[in-house]
Amino acid sequence: MKVGESMKFNTALLHQNFNGEEFTGSTVMPIYQVSAFAHESAEKLEKVFNNKAPGFAYTRISNPTVDSFEKRVAAMENGIGAVACSSGMAAVTMSLLNILESGDEIIAGSGLFGGTIDLFGDLKALGITTRFVQNVTAEEIEPLINHKTKAVFAELIGNPKLDVVDLKKVSELVHSHGIPLIIDSTTATPYLIHPFEYGADVVVHSSSKYINGGGNAISGIIIDSGNFRWENLRCKGLEEYRRYGKFAYLAKLRNGIWRNVGGCLAPMNAFMNSVGLETLGLRMERLCYNALKLAEFLDSTDGIEVNYPALKSSPYYELVQKQFGGKGGAILTIRTGSKEKAFKLINSLKYAVNATNIGDIRTLVIHPASTIYTHNSEEQKKNAGVYDDTIRISIGIEDIADLIEDFSQAIEKMED
Ligand SMILES: *Cc1c(COP(=O)(O)O)cnc(C)c1O
Repeated sequence: MKVGESMKFNTALLHQNFNGEEFTGSTVMPIYQVSAFAHESAEKLEKVFNNKAPGFAYTRISNPTVDSFEKRVAAMENGIGAVACSSGMAAVTMSLLNILESGDEIIAGSGLFGGTIDLFGDLKALGITTRFVQNVTAEEIEPLINHKTKAVFAELIGNPKLDVVDLKKVSELVHSHGIPLIIDSTTATPYLIHPFEYGADVVVHSSSKYINGGGNAISGIIIDSGNFRWENLRCKGLEEYRRYGKFAYLAKLRNGIWRNVGGCLAPMNAFMNSVGLETLGLRMERLCYNALKLAEFLDSTDGIEVNYPALKSSPYYELVQKQFGGKGGAILTIRTGSKEKAFKLINSLKYAVNATNIGDIRTLVIHPASTIYTHNSEEQKKNAGVYDDTIRISIGIEDIADLIEDFSQAIEKMED
């Protein structure tokens, strides 16, 4: 069932692909905190192991609590299936290694999450080269495509650059070369957009962030749209999965690298993230409202430069109207003039917590250059919009009047 066909967004978060638990009637899916599942006969376990009968064998491969989380997220993204991972980084890594082979190339945006940029560095040791574009546009991607290019990877709203990808234009170009478009939609969430409707082929989330919502469990998830013709992708490892048709990518992932690396999601964390998912709509509505209000306030404040995609002054304003219905997400960055001022502002805030996370219900701030981007080169920082005086703000659900007052008093102290 697709969102919108019979259920609206918030109803779907609770009811789509979910009926509680059949044996006990429990209204939330319980935590199956167990490693292995016993079966009454050797014949039955043989069938379960060979995907010939439904059932569970071992939690690294599948678990009812994790399975429920996967089905609910897949439905929210209008995908054909999902594989949950131990973290967002595991999801990013597995989504790519599932189709990459030594000698292959990826094209990626340069405004990415720092961990993902580091990962592309690690992939060099496996013979995989990443080519970065400054802006994720068809014009910049096209000249870099060659016979070795296996995927284009981008963050829909870059963290922390906050650049927005025009999915329709980019996916049309990428598809004209027979390549899949893999989108990290962590900061957009299914609340802002269903990327598959705009041509994305695979979506990954760090569900540690907005899907969890409470900052209490790390997880990641990979969803396939079912639209990409995997049989046409030049990839030796995919050949034996061709018989799965549109499920080839997910079947390979589940039966191959994902299960063998062992990056499975723990049942407890799947439970926390399922509970979080249910309030995604309410939280995002409030977060987007708060973010715009704070951005407008900071924009009118002397000595502060604001970057927020839904601000009229943003180069992405029009695209945000078209693609996200005017909502700009829950992250903004500001420039204060110097590192000293940035530190002083952070230290003067009463409510905003100084921590390396996004997507919490609390407002979080961080100085990226000295923390999450400390391993990156000066050029990588610049490409990601990370300067010495940049502060990233992940807005929370606090009352906006309190947040504005807090930032206002901290900015005054900063100028002292
Ligand atoms: C946090 C984040 C990740 C990594 O997720 P973890 O759950 O921390 O491993 C990947 N991409 C984006 C955009 C993120 O914000």
